[in-house]
Amino acid sequence: MSPAHAYTVDPKRLEGVTDQPLFKAAGRVADRMGVRAFAIGGHVRDLLLGRPCKDIDIVCEGDGIAFAEAVAKELDAGPVHVFKNFGTAMFTLRQAQGDMEQIEFVGARKESYSRNSRKPEVAPGTISDDQQRRDFTINALAISLNAPDRGQLVDPFNGVEDLRKGIIRTPLGPDVTFSDDPLRMLRAIRFATQLGFFIDVPTFEAIQRNAERLDIISAERIHTELNKIILAPVPSVGFKLLLNSGLLVRFFPEMVDLLGAEEKAGIGHKDNFYHTIQVLDNVAAHSDDLWLRWAAVLHDIAKPRTKRFEPGRGWTFHGHEDKGARMVPGIFRRLKLPLDEKMKFVQKLVALHLRPIALTKEEVTDSAVRRLLFDAGEAIDALMILCKADITSKNEAKKKRYLANYAVVMQKLREVEEKDRVRNFQPPITGEDIMRAFNITPCKAIGDIKTVIKDAILDGKIHNDRQQAWQLMVEEGRKLGLTLSPGMEGPTKA
Ligand code: ATP
Ligand code: MG
Repeated sequence: MSPAHAYTVDPKRLEGVTDQPLFKAAGRVADRMGVRAFAIGGHVRDLLLGRPCKDIDIVCEGDGIAFAEAVAKELDAGPVHVFKNFGTAMFTLRQAQGDMEQIEFVGARKESYSRNSRKPEVAPGTISDDQQRRDFTINALAISLNAPDRGQLVDPFNGVEDLRKGIIRTPLGPDVTFSDDPLRMLRAIRFATQLGFFIDVPTFEAIQRNAERLDIISAERIHTELNKIILAPVPSVGFKLLLNSGLLVRFFPEMVDLLGAEEKAGIGHKDNFYHTIQVLDNVAAHSDDLWLRWAAVLHDIAKPRTKRFEPGRGWTFHGHEDKGARMVPGIFRRLKLPLDEKMKFVQKLVALHLRPIALTKEEVTDSAVRRLLFDAGEAIDALMILCKADITSKNEAKKKRYLANYAVVMQKLREVEEKDRVRNFQPPITGEDIMRAFNITPCKAIGDIKTVIKDAILDGKIHNDRQQAWQLMVEEGRKLGLTLSPGMEGPTKA
């Protein structure tokens, strides 16, 4: 059977790895201290797969903190950051290419969990105890660093075989592994999505059985894994697994609500869950921006709440873009995602996602295009990527028409932006100008005049230029009963 994933596993890639200064130094120190030490986990996995990897984990049978300090000293590196509570320590090293890498040290341990407590009892253990408490066989691989068997792979659970076949499988019985730390269920799906691996059937069935246990995991740990799924090359793979495992509903029920296609009077609508993840894949093919990808996830999130069957019209989802934008903060807050300008960006894209295509319904006027540019601002490129990704129709004729419309809007956007520069709209007349021209202090009239000028520019009544805007300001001020100060008939220097 040839593997479904895109990696070739080559043990030759491990050759010479332990000759690297870090591993050599760690080996020397370990020999001197009389402890066994190993490179372990994700780094070893990624070496075998030929994948880039930023951080390195080293485990020793003994005191991991003391070992870290001795290795740092040996390398003249540091400072060493110690995390006493976790029994771990780390320092950073500059690689040959100049990048910094993080080296994390831990003492080998065995953990036992009791059903009533989430905190494991941790006791010092051997390398094989330590490998058993790892999440997956492919993450439990270790390379010996001590002189006698330096470079030797320690693979008690056939992790290399699973890497070759592209299989995610727990080292112990999956129910034990998942109930000890339910986050591992999410990690299984994350690795399957990132690597294009298959989750072994007993492992997947255990996820389905234990899905509820995810409720004890913090939102931060959940969103870290979720973001990695969203950033994967084909994120829909992860969302299907999240859905089918029963994990998605535990932390993102709004998304599960998108599932299903209702039919009435012979008229159906598309399944918005599968549509959404298709849009996400389409966006992923064009952008690695996490927040643009989040906008894809959320663009139709309010469809279930706005869905109506209107006789004669069929299914409608009026206002789902605005309602969806209003749902964003609640979802971000619950998942403890940032509530800053990143969230605002996602909200903006959700709110505007229908606008570019709506433009093509009638003749595309310059002023409608200017309005769109003004409302989207810096987010216009992202919005257009989302908008194109949203064209998922299976009807080829329809799809062709939408794509043609999309091209028309893109062309118009370019023309109008070149002419009127509204993307980063800076009003040609400031509040200061208005106050000086009419010798007034801050008041409502200033805002009103600015709005009239902005609308006139967006509607194409005047150009985005100071001379014309000044004239309009003078006229508007007069209408409002303001008196122009002497010498203010024409624009002063901006
Ligand atoms: P990446 O760095 O790409 O996220 P990784 O496998 O290196 O992947 P880390 O979170 O860096 O993941 O963890 C390093 C190693 O620690 C893993 O390879 C695994 O052996 C172990 N590990 C991490 N989290 C868990 C967990 N929740 N349960 C068991 N073992 C874990
Ligand atoms: Mg790692």
